[in-house]
Amino acid sequence: MSKRTARAAVYDAPNTPFVIRNYPLRDVRRDEVLVRISMSTICRSDIHSWEGRRPNPCPGILGHEIIGVIDQLGEDVTLDMRGGPLAVGDRITWTEFFHHGASYYGDVHDMPQKSNGIRKYGHDLVEEDPHFLGGFAEYCYVVPGTGILKLPDELSDEEATPLNCGVATMISVVEASEIQMGDIVAIQGLGLLGLYGCAMAKTRGARLVIGLDSVGDRLEAAKKFGADVVVDISGRGEDEVVDEVRALAPPDGVDAVIEVCGVPDVVTAGLKMLRIGGRYTLGGIVTPDADVTLDANMFVKKWITLRGIHNYHPRHLIQALDFVVANRERFPFRDIVDSTFRLDDLNEAFRRASERTVLRAAVIP
Ligand SMILES: [Zn+2]
Repeated sequence: MSKRTARAAVYDAPNTPFVIRNYPLRDVRRDEVLVRISMSTICRSDIHSWEGRRPNPCPGILGHEIIGVIDQLGEDVTLDMRGGPLAVGDRITWTEFFHHGASYYGDVHDMPQKSNGIRKYGHDLVEEDPHFLGGFAEYCYVVPGTGILKLPDELSDEEATPLNCGVATMISVVEASEIQMGDIVAIQGLGLLGLYGCAMAKTRGARLVIGLDSVGDRLEAAKKFGADVVVDISGRGEDEVVDEVRALAPPDGVDAVIEVCGVPDVVTAGLKMLRIGGRYTLGGIVTPDADVTLDANMFVKKWITLRGIHNYHPRHLIQALDFVVANRERFPFRDIVDSTFRLDDLNEAFRRASERTVLRAAVIP
């Protein structure tokens, strides 16, 4: 390769504008892939980093929901996670995290996403080789320890880009909530995770899916994604909301509640919605100091199972892809990415995503 450079929107510090800079592209090593980015989407956690609510190395390139086309393929990278052959020109997605070497959590407990020393795309210093390890740029290196998945042609970029964070994470959350045929399921929060969650609960055979949120557009959207009933919680007290949900779930409350709104205040309501033996899965509360006061006696008397889920196993990325491919005619996944921006307009894209005036903002370099 002759000396090439590519553009990136660099995050210098929280709450400062992104700046476009050029960095060198080098040839791939034998175990790497160079991808020309087709699309990246802005995840809620990118906004948390941008707002300084969680630490992220600076200067860096944010963005981990990424897809792209293979530009250079290292000679050792021949197959994707499913064993399908990889070639230059293939459109791929990949796990948002990478790790190599021994891993106590990965090897012993089958939780590779919690490996000590794990690294994530969109969380690295841009000044260091290989510079391009984030989504808001023209290129990204896919490095050893990443699970790669080839994308089928039928899937649009808009359907494919959120797979490797939002959709795969929700697969992981829904698996943990053990939704059974005939269950009544309540989902707290109808952002991207919640909308996919409604659809997944429905396809797992839930008899009734109840979606809760305070944003009118999201409540409306949830009806198209499998929510049978939506409950607007804005301006309402906890008891009122709990009573409404429990009235929908005779004789004694819902089987499973899923939290994907990131608001600790909803946890007590979620627990009160459950029947005896019910399951509560937390997937959205990712920022620290989310203190909640709970009556621990409720866990005992009501036999409640509480689980927290963070990130996903590589198998969940495969399931996310299969789920979207199998159900894209039933649910309008293509509408979730509802706005696109150029790399030069990343500041505007983040502003809109932060205000929640867009559901999922896409960036096309
Ligand atoms: Zn994310």
